[in-house]
Amino acid sequence: MKIRDKKVPMREQPPAERIKNFNEVPFGYTEEEAVLEAERCLSCKKPACVSGCPVEIDIPGFISKIKERKFREAARILKEKNCLPAICGRVCPQEEQCEKFCVLGKKFEPCAIGRLERFVADWEAEQGIEIPEKGKPTGKRIAVVGSGPAGLTVAGDLAKMGHEVVIFEALHKPGGVLVYGIPEFRLPKAIVQREVDFVKALGVKVILNFVVGKTKTVDELLLDFDAVFIGTGAGLPWFMNIPGENASGIYSANEYLTRVNLMKAYLFPEYDTPVVKGRRVAVIGGGNVAMDAARTALRLGAEKSMIIYRRGREELPARMEEIVRAEEEGVEFHFLTLPVRYIADGDGWVKEMECIRMTLGEPDSSGRRRPIPCPGSEFRIPVDTVVCAIGQSPNPLIPQTTPGLAVGKHGNIIADEKTGKTTKKGVFAGGDIVTGAATVILAMGAGRVAARHIDEYLKTGIW
Ligand SMILES: Cc1cc2nc3c(=O)[nH]c(=O)nc-3n(C[C@H](O)[C@H](O)[C@H](O)COP(=O)(O)OP(=O)(O)OC[C@H]3O[C@@H](n4cnc5c(N)ncnc54)[C@H](O)[C@@H]3O)c2cc1C
Ligand code: SF4
Repeated sequence: MKIRDKKVPMREQPPAERIKNFNEVPFGYTEEEAVLEAERCLSCKKPACVSGCPVEIDIPGFISKIKERKFREAARILKEKNCLPAICGRVCPQEEQCEKFCVLGKKFEPCAIGRLERFVADWEAEQGIEIPEKGKPTGKRIAVVGSGPAGLTVAGDLAKMGHEVVIFEALHKPGGVLVYGIPEFRLPKAIVQREVDFVKALGVKVILNFVVGKTKTVDELLLDFDAVFIGTGAGLPWFMNIPGENASGIYSANEYLTRVNLMKAYLFPEYDTPVVKGRRVAVIGGGNVAMDAARTALRLGAEKSMIIYRRGREELPARMEEIVRAEEEGVEFHFLTLPVRYIADGDGWVKEMECIRMTLGEPDSSGRRRPIPCPGSEFRIPVDTVVCAIGQSPNPLIPQTTPGLAVGKHGNIIADEKTGKTTKKGVFAGGDIVTGAATVILAMGAGRVAARHIDEYLKTGIW
């Protein structure tokens, strides 16, 4: 049979329509479309795709079940390695992971592994999710701090092994960045809730509005629990520290997106969180966070939503799919541009942004070409809202309140990447709090590694 050279396209809301709502953009595959796409997979004997998957999903295994229309079995295979497939199918940077290595990709478009993962997860949710059997109760108790992808993964895995697990979450909703950062139009909150419910169905207890480091310290948790896992993410926003940055109308991406996503500011006044609906919005940065903020601004009614990025299009760190969607929606990209100061009006509200042009030099330690300012090239852009999306650091509260926990120079907790062990006995850590801002699947991978070693530590007592 001749192989289709392109992925089966996924139907989605047209750009002109979708910028007026917060509904999910792509619709997902139908059964027929999924089978057609699955038939493109070569079921390789040595599946290169799996080597690109941080949680080692048996990719040809689940895809071949789709070919046979055995969707329930496909879901079982997926869930052996990934308890959040509907999330990963939507937000993983597949082009940098599994799909980058897909053998088909050498000649044609790679197999649409992410779309197929999403299809299987959604199919299973519609038909009724199967809860796997738990191991015999071990009598051991583990506290998990933070309910993002790292915390949910470690909790799910440990519960399956028969341990008693309690998640402590500072916010009033579980899910971490998945609920407060990534917008509804990319990851519907009902889907996150569904996957949180799955983890709960495994027996995990979730306690909300509980700030570890304030409500109780890690040392206090260690009195009640045999081990503690810290997965508190990277929620501390960075600013550029340039003149005028404290003018009104300048947000961190964290605050902007949290107001809109978690606090439902887009439904104001039905929900009582306000957010500035700027006319001319500039988003500083080029990652997923920046794309999300720029696309959110459009949906809130901005006339102009601009990405201001100091490198070029090729260097944008965001997922390609989201860059293309932002472009289709009319987000303006200003490359090789860096803000150097903000100018406010008489009321202290930002009205202009002074920028400088950049050029690209030799690659730096990140492997990307270093941006260099062009002297004398300053120019101004009129704005009334600015969203700073240049990065985040790990949350500092736990490192500050836990004696004996070694911390790196960026405030990250130091943990062994092969075990998740920190410098404090009985305390493990993983996800963005260890690596700095990274990805959902890497946070999940760290949760998986930690779960294995927590189990081993609880069985042997050896640190
Ligand atoms: C806007 C945005 C878009 C993104 N888009 C993508 C994407 O498309 N693809 C991708 O792979 N990655 C994306 N990422 C990155 C990804 O979401 C993170 O790497 C991932 O969520 C990290 O998971 P985590 O479990 O380490 O932490 P988090 O998801 O940050 O979860 C940490 C949790 O811990 C809680 N917490 C913090 N301190 C305490 C405390 N003291 N006590 C109790 N609870 C506490 C927090 O409230 C939070 O719920 C995006 C990030 C952002 C901000
Ligand atoms: S590498 Fe591509 S074609 Fe081969 S098994 Fe993986 S998804 Fe299928």
